[in-house]
Amino acid sequence: MKIRNVKQVHQAMEVSEGAGVTVFRTIGTPRVRNLDPFLMLDFFCSDDPDDYIAGFPDHPHRGFVTFTYMIDGHMQHRDSMGNEGDLRSGGAQWMKAASGVIHSEMPKQTDGLMRGFQLWINLPADEKMSAPGYQEFAPEAIPEVESNGSRVRVLMGNYQGVEAPIKDEITQVQYLDVSLEAGQSFEHELPEMLQGFVYLFEGEAQVGDKLLPEHSFAVLDNGDHIQIRSTDKKARFIVVMGKPIGESIVQYGPFVMNSEDEIHQAMLDYRDGRLVQQKAQMVTG
Ligand code: MN
Repeated sequence: MKIRNVKQVHQAMEVSEGAGVTVFRTIGTPRVRNLDPFLMLDFFCSDDPDDYIAGFPDHPHRGFVTFTYMIDGHMQHRDSMGNEGDLRSGGAQWMKAASGVIHSEMPKQTDGLMRGFQLWINLPADEKMSAPGYQEFAPEAIPEVESNGSRVRVLMGNYQGVEAPIKDEITQVQYLDVSLEAGQSFEHELPEMLQGFVYLFEGEAQVGDKLLPEHSFAVLDNGDHIQIRSTDKKARFIVVMGKPIGESIVQYGPFVMNSEDEIHQAMLDYRDGRLVQQKAQMVTG
């Protein structure tokens, strides 16, 4: 058994996105350009509607997957091909933009706390121009594993034999939301080839010899075992791991491809109304 230590710890950068929404970015910044297969991680967290009400009006994506996990609040998404969905507190959406999606992501609430994560997961070259797709699951459909003093919500992958409803076969992403009471421990076995991080958004936690303060993002080192302990405070964090792709990454805003030529093509396609080529298939639960 090899326990994963912490390789690096970063605090989030405040960034304005969409129509002026404040997000806290960790992956996709000058400090952490990417963490293969992950391209971007944004945490949105505010009880001030001015920070989020403008939302994310129509915008394109090509070449990767977006995964949105709503912790508190209510967001509606709608795409240019007529797909529509509602994300409520505790629900999640995996959207494979692949060859192209133009969509909007708009808050449906006008006050109260809005909290959640958006993660961008890269696609390998042979998937970048494939058909788009969605997997969208309501809060009730996300399994939870509870034991004394801990609760684990299994969003992608598996935990203690419990399978998540959302499947990411391409990069085998594991995505867990873990809540620990004070003085508890989270243990998880997983393949050594997976690479990923912990984002602590409530309380503090000990990973190896590092104490993570609130709102810290920790890149995990190699190993086949994750062990995270809460201190005398409660802790809540996401643990996200995926299989590295190992290809070149060329990014221009919402387009992530393997070469400059493909980026140029994406820009031309978007300008000429050819970005969306196939209707996305929806899987919901
Ligand atoms: Mn989007």
